[in-house]
Amino acid sequence: MKKTFCVAIDGPSGSGKSTVAKGVASALGFFHIDSGAIYRSLAWWMERQTESLPNLDCFTYHIVEKEGKFFHFIGDIDVTVEIRAPYISQRSSEIARYSQVRKRVNELQREIAIGRSVVIEGRDIGSVVFPNAQIKIFLTADIDERARRRFEELKLKGSLNPLEEVKNDLIERDERDRTREDAPLIQSKDAVAIDTTNMTVGEVIEKIVTLAKIERAPRFWKLLVGEQRSGAQTLYKIVVFVTYLIYRALYRFEIEGLENYPEGAAIIAPNHSSFLDPPAMGVACPHEVHCLAKAYLFKNRILGWALPRINTHPVMGDGSDLGVLKKIAEFLHQGKQVIIFPEGSRSKDNQVAPLKRGIALLASMAKCKVVPVKITGAYEAWPRGKKFPKLWGKIRVTFGKPLDWKDYEIRSPNKKEMQILFTKDLEESIKNLGVKEVFR
Ligand code: C5P
Repeated sequence: MKKTFCVAIDGPSGSGKSTVAKGVASALGFFHIDSGAIYRSLAWWMERQTESLPNLDCFTYHIVEKEGKFFHFIGDIDVTVEIRAPYISQRSSEIARYSQVRKRVNELQREIAIGRSVVIEGRDIGSVVFPNAQIKIFLTADIDERARRRFEELKLKGSLNPLEEVKNDLIERDERDRTREDAPLIQSKDAVAIDTTNMTVGEVIEKIVTLAKIERAPRFWKLLVGEQRSGAQTLYKIVVFVTYLIYRALYRFEIEGLENYPEGAAIIAPNHSSFLDPPAMGVACPHEVHCLAKAYLFKNRILGWALPRINTHPVMGDGSDLGVLKKIAEFLHQGKQVIIFPEGSRSKDNQVAPLKRGIALLASMAKCKVVPVKITGAYEAWPRGKKFPKLWGKIRVTFGKPLDWKDYEIRSPNKKEMQILFTKDLEESIKNLGVKEVFR
């Protein structure tokens, strides 16, 4: 069966979902499903039924696409224009509270999406209807901006409703959507939030289309030309690419928890038990990262040429050395991401050793996030004390939820105490990640 792709766009009324979803669908050549239009069509249909509780299975709905435009049909009646009337906005919002209604609309949405790549917009698409959508977006905008947009839209259609009335209608519908028991409007945790208040429609569309293109590209292509690495030096990209191919072939390399990966300055903090860890981290991090190596390595002619080109920087001393800390802080202040193995050296027995305090010190200096990471399988493939690695195995890198120094700073003015707590929490997070045994 053809592999299909789903872009789910959720958000409150007036956040720009419809315009954006249409634009994204047209740019990607996907089918556009407006789930709000299905609720509206159902409300229109229910208004015309004589029973107070009509059999919802009798409600038929389909979309007709003509020259890139989508028309909404109930049987052979085109309701595209009528379902935009303000009284239908109210009715659809009221009926959307009922579980039987949501169940029927969800069935219809899933039927329409079968065998197609779709852009689908609504309130519960990423959270309930298509929880496995490859791209989940949550659009927001402040209420005055949303009211203004809806007001302009209605004015174009000849409506004379004053702005204040349009705004109150949005507030009322939002409140109903957010507080209903079944499938309330919420941002699912893996959705990318975009605040459209000060963005043009074109900018929002471009952002989503780029995300979708990166997600659809084969993994190796993402590694080589993914936009996050576009500023990186050529050798860096090639090394990441070749390492990825080798790790895939030899160690069935896997990456988990990328949704936790932050933008901007951050320390990436993995456990360390093998020489296989640093390259694994270079490949797993979706953004360009920097790391440090002992200065004497740079005296070697080949390494001295290659290491700086793969973002490896010379340092004297170990992780507690002030010069080393200063260098890392400098990178963080420039918004870069740095990999630091917080145990200091490779574990002898694959257990996470107590973390050095330097990492909390750095986080407090740069006020940045620290991402706990667990590497599993590398120790089994190449433990300390073995001259050569085993050639087959399974290595997995799992990113956990970042710890943010700012959250600790506000808890107590006692910096030292907070650094100790931060270090302890980080150690716990690393230990608890990727606990499944993966080496086979
Ligand atoms: O998006 P639109 O304003 O056209 O949707 C009409 C109504 O349908 C909304 O006010 C909302 O209550 C409901 N709806 C929903 N879940 C969706 C889409 C729309 O509850 N996925």
